Amino acid sequence: MKTILSYLRPHAPRVAVGVTVKFTAAVLELLLPLLLAHIIDDCVPTRDLAAIRRAGGLMLLMAFGAALCNITANRMAAWVSMDMTRLLRRDLYQRTLLLSQAQLDRFSASSLVSRLTNDTYNVHQMFDKIQRGGIRAPMLVLGGLALTFLQAPPLALIQLAVSSATFLAIWLVTRKGIPRYTKAQEAVDTVVRIIRENAAGVRIVKALACQERERERFTAASRSARETEEDAGRIMAAANPLSNFLLNLGLVLVVLAGALLVDRGRMNSGQIVGFLSYFTLIQTATLGLAKLFVKFSKGVASARRIEEVLLAPEGQLVRLTEEAAPGPELGMENVSFSYLGVEKDLNGASFSLNKGETLGILGPTGSGKTTLVSLLLRLYDADEGIVWLGGQNVDTLSREALRGRFGVVFQNEALLNDSVYENISFLRELSREEVIAAAKTAQAWEFIQNLPRGLDARLDIRGANLSGGQRQRLLIARALAARPGILVLDSADSALDYRTAAALHAAIRRDCPGMTLVVISERVASLREADRILVLEDGVIDAQGTHAQLLKDCKRYRRMAELQMGGLE
Ligand code: ADP
Repeated sequence: MKTILSYLRPHAPRVAVGVTVKFTAAVLELLLPLLLAHIIDDCVPTRDLAAIRRAGGLMLLMAFGAALCNITANRMAAWVSMDMTRLLRRDLYQRTLLLSQAQLDRFSASSLVSRLTNDTYNVHQMFDKIQRGGIRAPMLVLGGLALTFLQAPPLALIQLAVSSATFLAIWLVTRKGIPRYTKAQEAVDTVVRIIRENAAGVRIVKALACQERERERFTAASRSARETEEDAGRIMAAANPLSNFLLNLGLVLVVLAGALLVDRGRMNSGQIVGFLSYFTLIQTATLGLAKLFVKFSKGVASARRIEEVLLAPEGQLVRLTEEAAPGPELGMENVSFSYLGVEKDLNGASFSLNKGETLGILGPTGSGKTTLVSLLLRLYDADEGIVWLGGQNVDTLSREALRGRFGVVFQNEALLNDSVYENISFLRELSREEVIAAAKTAQAWEFIQNLPRGLDARLDIRGANLSGGQRQRLLIARALAARPGILVLDSADSALDYRTAAALHAAIRRDCPGMTLVVISERVASLREADRILVLEDGVIDAQGTHAQLLKDCKRYRRMAELQMGGLE
């Protein structure tokens, strides 16, 4: 909570003013029953109309003043909580962008989305309600009790007993509610995740006719979310009726005890009416408190979830070393890595590459190809060994130093719902010439020219109005456009026919001399020109060498080449 509370600090003066105004309103509200008692007990019996008018007018004025104060303070509260939530959301978003890939995996995208939306909303609600009711409600309860104590201690004692019981009941209920709301929030995360997955994979879901299964999966998650929310709601549902019942009970007790006291001549009937007014005040205030507690329990749970992200440790530290011996342009030295710390997803990888050379990576699905590349990009840090980049240990390179060095096409990468130009330029404000040159190298220029508005043609969400091969070529153009020192293509030609793929690789070599290339492919043909090919199997580099060497030495490679290229070799 400390971190979240610090967002309130800049607004301290405003909050202080709001609190003072609320305080004034509460004092005015507390004085009203006293005036009422005065009218009934002192003015009515003497039929002093002028005094009644005076006191009545004063009551009206005070009620009006209290309303005005409350409106002002509530507006201020809304403004403060809105502004601090805006800053909180901004910082949370910026922090999210800085999370390491490992941290992103751990939090999961859907949970981050709900932290940015639901949780910031809950925190907003909490601060808003606390400012509105946090002063007023306790003051009305305590002030009401104090004023009644001065007049009739026995009646005040009944009130005290009732409000204590109410507080205790609400506190117990709330304490049980908080963990349930946290669980409910997690269940909502799951629902959001499934929606995202389905929205992203809608085609495959339809193609494989898994709608039924997906619907069931969604229904199950949604049911679980409803059940946990219901569970939390069930507990919290007791709060209001319980406090209502207790206060009504107190009301009856006060009337009974008051009647006895009036009977014995120790109290006036006007005072009883005043007491009943206090009861109404205390009742509403206690109910307000109950609601406040609900908002509070939700808000605290959400604040914790937000702080988890805000306070997440700097994922990847940049090691400062005065390392003397530089390493290769690109390479690994005995590198091992595990995503979950259970089994090694990359095990003892070693290779090296010179500037301008091409690295080919071949291996079945799940063999660790993407993992190897992710370590080169420092999306994750290796558990053991050294990853070399530009002659330096990547551990010593900051995010800024790494940025801009790579052009990357990953699998399942998405296009934006924007023009072809924007999709290639990708917020880097490249010139149209640069974009066209990249499109030409990526073998995309021909089909772009044939689009209704060429470079300015608009793509649907995820480029749904293009073929798979066209999308891949646009993504390659995007990766090429800023002329990176190292280009990584992760199965980027899987949707291209052999001829286009061959033309693409030839064009990259021709148009981008000096660019280091890392090509992941399941096609031997796409890799045969590479200076070094790694054959991966179960996270281990099984063999490495040039196409010719591997044909000679690696049985698996030879078999793949024969299968794919038939009698070509
Ligand atoms: P490839 O690119 O060769 O298909 P990957 O490098 O993607 O293979 O995956 C290698 C292994 O690491 C697989 O067993 C996969 O399940 C696991 N893996 C990949 N990404 C993650 C992740 N984010 N968290 C946990 N395990 C992962």
